[in-house]
This record gives sequence, structure tokens and C-alpha cells, in this order.
Amino acid sequence: MIVMKFGGTSVADATAMKTVLSIVRKYSAEPLIVVLSACSGITNKILKAMEISAAGDKNKALDIYREIEIHHLNLINELIDKKKYKEEALKPVKKLLDDLKNFIEAANLLGELTDRTSDSAVANGELLSTNIFEAACRCYGIESVFLDIRNIICTDSAFGSASVDFDETSIAAKETISPLFGNNKPIITQGFIASDSFGRTTTLGRGGSDYSAAIIGWAVDAGEIQIWTDVNGVMSGDPRILKNACTLPEMSFTAIRWASYFGAKVLHPDTIKPALDNNIPVRVLNTFEMENPGTTILNNTGMKRATLQSLVLQKKCMLRKFTFPDNIGSKKTESRFQSLIDALESKVYYQCRAENLEIYLTDVPNHDEELFLGIDFEAAVENIPVSAIFLIGEMLTGMGSGELFSKLGTVFEKYPPEAIFSGMSNEFIVTAFRPDDAESALKALHEIIVSSF
Ligand code: ASP
Repeated sequence: MIVMKFGGTSVADATAMKTVLSIVRKYSAEPLIVVLSACSGITNKILKAMEISAAGDKNKALDIYREIEIHHLNLINELIDKKKYKEEALKPVKKLLDDLKNFIEAANLLGELTDRTSDSAVANGELLSTNIFEAACRCYGIESVFLDIRNIICTDSAFGSASVDFDETSIAAKETISPLFGNNKPIITQGFIASDSFGRTTTLGRGGSDYSAAIIGWAVDAGEIQIWTDVNGVMSGDPRILKNACTLPEMSFTAIRWASYFGAKVLHPDTIKPALDNNIPVRVLNTFEMENPGTTILNNTGMKRATLQSLVLQKKCMLRKFTFPDNIGSKKTESRFQSLIDALESKVYYQCRAENLEIYLTDVPNHDEELFLGIDFEAAVENIPVSAIFLIGEMLTGMGSGELFSKLGTVFEKYPPEAIFSGMSNEFIVTAFRPDDAESALKALHEIIVSSF
């Protein structure tokens, strides 16, 4: 059984939805659960309309509502060409649009917007896209089943970003979803939305549809979860800088987690954790390049030797070196220094300490660097502007990484790094270069990845 999730751009308009229909058809020999986001931009529009209305500008809010209405009515017209199915789609869609309008007007009347009301209103985005898609399935000869996921995913009542009750969800999934499999019809359902134990609509936080897919996959013990998006999976580096950047066929969950921590724009690893907890592979695929195999994320890729996979560049970073007169001085100042880092709201990419030396690699926030000036550390402070390159992969350090390190050494000879940190984890090595060298170093490091394919 496959759980396939399509994001907002994959269901943005009739053309995109037709592509999704052909993907569903392609996989329809298998039992499928199809999880959809709202059409691209609709969640933002609903939230904006609700906020503006609550703040007093009902007319402007209703203008936004009309854009939402027109978008979905056009979508039905362009996607569904048989009268019967058009009517079948229009019935629930008109009701959902009416509900949405009522929410917008109610927010204006009350002059306030609670998270609870906001969740009920915003849920209409996913309910609209799935109702239309389900009618389109029937129109195109794909017999399908519509499922309101609020009857399955159970959460607490933290509206806006609710926490899942996995036990309740598992029970509901077994009772409701499992019997539906017998039909051998794709099940069409919503991402992002859920309900609390009182049956009130909740949401899982912005971008929560990936998480929905992982929860559903976990609850029904799917064989695979597919996240269909608008890129070819996880890449070896930023294709805007690295013209020969390539899609990685496989990546471990831990490696992807580090890539995300260091700032790679990949799917948020925590959102797919429930799937990986059940050892379910997650494939990231491109709706608009259906045949591209994408990237499969696994708990264990079985890689046996050091493999550099992906590079993440952060241009504006700072190496902050503190040399204390003695080890005792270092300990005294540590907590004080930590609170300064917190006050700067710096992201600390790496931190290490030995004897009387302490080094932080941080980003450079746009505000008050002054905080670091004039403080009476008993330490010599050195701030070195650098560009960090994070090397992500598997088995990068330790036994068997000699060959990789000799290749890295060739690059480092040409572009001497200001710092190299390795050994903390097998999945990453942190390097920091002079900003002028960074792009050339990145390209040279990337050649190591390309040559290994
Ligand atoms: N529609 C929701 C959002 O835009 C959830 C999602 O697309 O993942 O945040």
C-alpha cells in the first residue's frame, strides 16, 4: 500500500491536477491513499481574509474570498468536462465556499480571530481541493473513495499546531481505513487537518501535509510514502551555483536531518519521522517529472564506505574564537557567553571546546553585533567572517574514510579552510572558508560527489 502526498503546487490548477490524475492512474494497481494539500496559495489567502476581516475590513476580506471562489469554480470548469461530475463537484464545493464566507463574516462581526476559528476556516482549503479532485477521479474513470481525515487523525486541542494522539489515530485508522482497502479504489483525503477529541477541527501547523502523510502511512503500515513536490528529490547541492548538481537516489534519515539543520531546503525531517519509526521508506518525487526516480529516504541505506552526498553553503557566518587565560576562566565565563549568543539570536552551527579554547561557528544575524563589544571577558576574542560549507553524507569519518579525506585534502590545499570540524558525527563535516574562496571551494568539493556517481 502506498500513501502519496501532493503539495500545493501539484494541485495548483487544472493542468497540475490532470498530471496528478495520471500519476494516480499509473499507481492504481496498488491500494492507494492520496493526500492532498490545498491549491497553491489558498491557505495564505484564507488566513489573510480571516485576519483582515477580524481587523475590520470586511470588504477587502470578501474580495479575497471572491478570488478563492473564482479559483475553485474555474478549476471545476477546466478540469471536469462532463456535466454529471461537474454537478457532483459543485454541490460540496458550494457548501464549503458558503461555510468559508460565513467564517469570514463572523470574524468581522466578532472583531477577533481565535486559533480555533482560524483552523475551522483554513481547513476549507484542503476540503475544497480534495472534493474537486475526487469528482475529477470519477470523471476520468478512476473509481475512488472520499475520506474526511478529521475522522482519523486525532489531536489535542492546541489549535494552529496540534499534537497527534497516535494511539487514538491508530485505532481510528484500523476501524475506518482498513475496511476501505477491500474496494481497491484510491482513497482521496486531506493533509494538514485533523480533529480533537471533541470533534473540533484542528491543524498540524503550516506545511503540515507531509506530516499527515507520514502519520497515515504509520497508522496503516504502508509499504511506501511518496511525497510529490516540484523538485526532483534531494540534490547534491544548490543547482543555482552548481550547474551539475544531481538528484541523490538514496539518503539516510540522519543525513537528511543534518542537511536540514545546516539550512538545506529539503523537506523537514521531523515531518516524516513517524514513517521512519515504522521503517517505511519515504520517496521524494517530482509531479512535473513523473519518470524521475527522485530520492528515497531510509533509516539505513546499507552504505559500506565513506560517501559524500550533499553540500550546504552558508555564506555569512562567523567563527568566534575565545582564548581564556586558563581553563578555570573558561568555565566561569561559559554561561555568560552562552547567554550572549542567545541574545544575538545566532544560530550555532557548531561549538567545541578544549582546555582554554572555545570556538563557535554561528550565522551572522542582521542586528546588534555590538553586544560582543566592550564585554569584560577574561578572554582574547577573535571574530573571523567566514562562509561555511557543510559536507553531508554517510560514514564520513572514522574507518574507511581515508580515500575521501585524501580527495578533500586536494581541495583544502587549493583553498585552505579557516577551520575543519569533524568526528562528532559520521554524517557531517563542517568546514569554514574565507568568503572569497567559498564558491570555488564548493565547486571543487562538489566534483568529488559528481565523480563518485
Ligand atoms: N495547506 C497547508 C499550508 O499551506 C498545508 C500544506 O500545504 O502542507 O501550510
